[in-house]
Amino acid sequence: MSLNLLDYDAERLGQLMVQMGEKPFRAKQLLKWVHQRGAADFDVMSDIAKSFRQKLTEQACVAPPSMMAEQIAQDGTRKWLLDVGTGNGVEAVFIPEDDRGTLCVSSQVGCALDCTFCSTARQGFNRNLSTAEIIGQLWWANQRLSFDAARLGNAVNDDTRIVSNVVMMGMGEPLANYDNVVAAMRLMLDDNAYGLSRRRVTLSTSGMVPQLDRLREDCPVALAVSLHAPNDKIRDEIVPINKKYPLKELLNACNRYLEKAPRDFVTFEYVMLAGINDQPEHARQLVDLARSVSCKFNLIPFNPFPNSGYARSGREAIHRFRDILIQAGYIVTVRKTRGDDIDAACGQLAGQVLDKTRRTEKMAETRPILFQQK
Ligand code: SAH
Repeated sequence: MSLNLLDYDAERLGQLMVQMGEKPFRAKQLLKWVHQRGAADFDVMSDIAKSFRQKLTEQACVAPPSMMAEQIAQDGTRKWLLDVGTGNGVEAVFIPEDDRGTLCVSSQVGCALDCTFCSTARQGFNRNLSTAEIIGQLWWANQRLSFDAARLGNAVNDDTRIVSNVVMMGMGEPLANYDNVVAAMRLMLDDNAYGLSRRRVTLSTSGMVPQLDRLREDCPVALAVSLHAPNDKIRDEIVPINKKYPLKELLNACNRYLEKAPRDFVTFEYVMLAGINDQPEHARQLVDLARSVSCKFNLIPFNPFPNSGYARSGREAIHRFRDILIQAGYIVTVRKTRGDDIDAACGQLAGQVLDKTRRTEKMAETRPILFQQK
């Protein structure tokens, strides 16, 4: 089987070069060709000796997941369904804004956690994505976006980074696929690959404490934590991993994470569920709970999906909640809902998951929403 070079971060690629009888610096050249110029064909790699190119053609490939469907929302948000084989598909979402372009990347086919308000959870879980399948989403987005830019006559050169920010907030729990996610994020940060700064890559987690501690050492990118509740009672209900790593432990882990970079902050994500966690008393509890952590809040109006059993908090409830946090001195943003007309908003990514957990069967009343090809 040929080696997919998208599976290799700089260190591993250097080792592979040595195994192939080459100098380690070849890794640098290859990274640039593959990730910066989007080359998938070794023949174009003109600064690499012909004999080595031949060897690469025989033994290796550059194989990102292929696109099954693209949808473009009215606000310009794009959602891609990428084929990861054997009937499984994952989604990546590109969100253009005036000053940046953010790619939301998936880390697993489905999700094994069971957050009650998340549509990915309803899909069940099939498997972890490989490094190639994770970084392939960024590779793919850059190809697609620069192709479109060129078609529209906008200048594109090697330095054009249409994707300026990456958020690991697509399908899956990134810290449950630790090794592959870290390798992919190292490529995102690598100057020979995507060269994004540490602050422009954000990992969102539901709160896997041991892996958070590892991440702090291995690849301390910007951190977002799906808090969603002001106390353990509510969080146990809606983010069940809380039973394993309750709030106190999670917040301590956040503080340990920040020790590495004292000027950083954690973003606490908080989904606004009508009548569940959106009352003024909840905001006041949250004020006290988060006191010890250098943090910002990102309130996410709940994005509905069929049979979710939840409703989005009203505007007034969201504003009242926000104001209590602001008055206590926190920085608070309310996440704009992007791409909801194509089910591309937070928690709406469903992809195509051949469930191995039988969760979808157990929830027979909640039919999974499959990606609609248009
Ligand atoms: N597993 C990671 C990444 C998931 S998605 C995590 O839990 O952080 C990114 C964010 O969207 C998370 O905060 C998640 O809780 C939130 N989310 C999930 N379902 C949602 C929904 N239906 N509406 C709004 N936000 C949702």
